[in-house]
Amino acid sequence: MRYEKIIESAGEYDVVVCGGGFAGFGAACAAAREGANVILIERDGCLGGTGTKAMVNHMLGARRFEGNSIFTCVGGLFSELENRLLEINGAVDVHSVNRDLPAQGWYPLLGAGLVFDNEKMKLVLEEMALKYGVKLLYMTEVVDALCNDRRITDVVIHNKSGLASVSGKYFVDATGDGDICRMSGCSLIKGEEGGGMAAASLEMHVDGVDAEKLTEYMSKTHDVRFRNLIRPLKEKGVWNFPYEIFISVQMTRPDVFMINTIRQVGIDGTDADSLTKGIIDGRKESFDLLEIMRKHFPGFANAEIRQIAPTIGIRETYRLSGEYVLTTDDLITGKDFEDGIALSAYHWDMPDPKRPSVQPLNGVETASPYTQVPYRCLLPKEVDNLIVTGRCISAEREVLGPVRVMAPCLAIGEAAGTSAALVFRDGIAFKNADVEIIRRKIKAHGGIVDRIDVKEEK
Ligand SMILES: Cc1cc2nc3c(=O)[nH]c(=O)nc-3n(C[C@H](O)[C@H](O)[C@H](O)COP(=O)(O)OP(=O)(O)OC[C@H]3O[C@@H](n4cnc5c(N)ncnc54)[C@H](O)[C@@H]3O)c2cc1C
Repeated sequence: MRYEKIIESAGEYDVVVCGGGFAGFGAACAAAREGANVILIERDGCLGGTGTKAMVNHMLGARRFEGNSIFTCVGGLFSELENRLLEINGAVDVHSVNRDLPAQGWYPLLGAGLVFDNEKMKLVLEEMALKYGVKLLYMTEVVDALCNDRRITDVVIHNKSGLASVSGKYFVDATGDGDICRMSGCSLIKGEEGGGMAAASLEMHVDGVDAEKLTEYMSKTHDVRFRNLIRPLKEKGVWNFPYEIFISVQMTRPDVFMINTIRQVGIDGTDADSLTKGIIDGRKESFDLLEIMRKHFPGFANAEIRQIAPTIGIRETYRLSGEYVLTTDDLITGKDFEDGIALSAYHWDMPDPKRPSVQPLNGVETASPYTQVPYRCLLPKEVDNLIVTGRCISAEREVLGPVRVMAPCLAIGEAAGTSAALVFRDGIAFKNADVEIIRRKIKAHGGIVDRIDVKEEK
């Protein structure tokens, strides 16, 4: 069927950021901070993407514990966000967590994350974006991109006002799924060879948890993923899920835990029917899981569902096949890049699509605890005025483990936005940007781009 329509213009901007997750937030704030006229277009009604809408209230990848020290490798806008949240009691201060057995995930690397209050996070993200001068357009989906001679000229948007176009000089794809790349004909790869993608998860938060009882069990047994409790339940036919671990993370209130447990195999985050099925099945499974938790898991006898996420969490869909593909080997050898623009302190975490409790690269040693992301991983080969950020940058699948977590996504976004403002000023293609200037700008705002810069604090 062919459908034609004359549409109105909804404005013209220097930089158009599509998607308002942490990557899009970082890109929009950074571009506006450098003086560009920026619009951020977001499908739903808040910033934070998966972090807020899918209720994954735990930003990983910014730092790690070593002995009594904390080493931080993401600064800049992330630090500003964290400080503001701490001022309003909207996050757990990392200095207050038990570094050996943190209830914030029960592993030291998870305890080094930033647990945040969902509503305060949305508030602070908005405050910051508005402070930097970003024009926010919520409840608006980008549905197409209009291209001419290796450039996007406009994106087509749809919202309650109807269809319209937004013109831009430079565009940032922060949709997580590479939507703008797809619409403008850039090369993408979907999941693993054969198309399998990491399981999706509908998250829930429960309250009424006896955190002391739970901690007592953890410290006595170190069975932090409840494998020993799940095994007999599986044998008895009580536990019938396709995963064998239970993940609980204490939130800002001690009796409230995020249950990041259910793993929904075979959900395609780019297919509306599949997403709908994922949400319906996930909601039912959350209640089934709660029953088991209440009967069998220490500390959860009186737990109640506080909220099931309004949207399903998607770990993996498309990723860019760009100017450079960050490889597994780069991680293993701890490769440094002259055009490094962000770091992650997180590790391998890209589960097998069919066996969601299995991490194929678990145990593979890396030369450095940090992954450095080069600028070229953000650049599509086919379009000159588009940059990609967040979980869909150009990397081998396994590399998404460290790269897709939220603090690095924010840092990669900050780099993309900084670049967008600079290439706009000079009227050049993203690939011709002077990366040394981008790196200098990021550092001037407290960002960290090189391994050697990682900061230590007690
Ligand atoms: C279940 C689950 C658990 C996780 N656990 C953790 C964890 O504990 N810690 C951690 O740090 N990371 C975790 N991650 C990973 C992390 O949450 C994501 O990879 C990260 O949030 C991705 O950020 P992003 O900004 O790239 O994309 P997203 O968060 O996906 O944001 C993309 C945004 O773009 C919008 N959008 C998409 N398409 C369009 C369009 N066409 N038009 C307009 N808007 C659009 C979306 O609405 C969304 O707001 C988890 C992920 C999942 C799914």
